[in-house]
Order: sequence, then structure tokens, then C-alpha cells
Amino acid sequence: MNGPDRLPLRPLLLADLLASPAIGPAAFDPNRPLLASLIAGQASGGGCLPPHLGLGPAAYRYLREAYFPGCTATPTAREIESIPEWDDLQKLLLDHRARKSPSELLMANVVATACIGRDHLWQDLGLASREELSQLMWVNFPELARANSGDMKWKKFLYRQFCSREGIYVCPAPSCGVCKDYAKCFGPEN
Ligand code: SF4
Repeated sequence: MNGPDRLPLRPLLLADLLASPAIGPAAFDPNRPLLASLIAGQASGGGCLPPHLGLGPAAYRYLREAYFPGCTATPTAREIESIPEWDDLQKLLLDHRARKSPSELLMANVVATACIGRDHLWQDLGLASREELSQLMWVNFPELARANSGDMKWKKFLYRQFCSREGIYVCPAPSCGVCKDYAKCFGPEN
């Protein structure tokens, strides 16, 4: 079983991951439920992330062993292409990290990797809801979360931040309020 057929497994996988006793500081990491949701989403065929979530095999192994030892959720096999802006997106995230937990480094890699997907960012991450992504942003990258005061769609927001950093202005209007593409950047993400 692979892809959408596995989606009903998500709650079971999530419960299994969260029931697994974490080791050391991982047990108190506020990112643990979010990491569990990312792993459960990928393992149930959701999102676009590769089996190691974009962390690379070694960091993914560390994540599983430290945060969810004994959990047997099997990642969905899939390959993804790389995107040229990955480094810049990761740097944007890391430059705004909360600096409270080393797992923020993992989250920056995962979020930058999910930007390759074609759906809304929370969907590409395999999360359960947009609210979960907003929580991820507040926990890990609070400055960015605060800056998204207009509740822009998260992927649009990250790319807009990235482009304005690089001095690239591709928006068709001087401000969002008068832009014909407003609905593409704001509004419901579902
Ligand atoms: S609404 Fe228009 S101006 Fe605002 S970010 Fe989107 S494209 Fe750019």
C-alpha cells in the first residue's frame, strides 16, 4: 500500500510515534508533536517529502532514535527533485529561528524541502492542518510568523520574503491591497 491509500493510517502512526518514549532533551522538545506529525504524514503517503524528510539519512536516523525510539512507522518511498532556491530558503528560516532548540535546524531543512511541492505548504509537509504549520512557524521561526501579520499563504509568504531579500520584485502591484492577485496570496489554504 502506498500514496493516498495509506492516508487512513495517519492517526494510528501518529499515536504510535507519540507513545514512543523519547530520550533525554527530545522528551521536552516542543517540536516533538510536530515532528511526529511530519513523520506520520510522510509515512501515510501525504505531502511531498522524501523518506528522510529532507534531512538526509543520518539526521533522519538520529531523529527517529532520539525522539521516537522503537517506533516502526515505515517511510513512503518516493524521490523528489532538488530546487535551486533550497539553500536560500533554509537560510531565511535559520536567520529567523527561535534559538531555543537544536531541532529548529531540522525544521528549517524540512520546510525548505517541502517548498518543492505543488500544493499548499502544510499539505506538502504532510501535516494535518494549516494550523499545525502556523504552530510550527511560531515555535521555530517566530519572527517570520509575526511578520506574516496578514495571514498570507505560507509558501507565498516565504517566497515573498526570500525575493525581497534578494531585491527581486515580481509582484504586479505596489501593495497587496490593490493587487489583482490578492486571492492567490491570501485567503483559505485548503
Ligand atoms: S497579493 Fe500581489 S502584491 Fe501581494 S504578495 Fe501577492 S502578488 Fe505580491
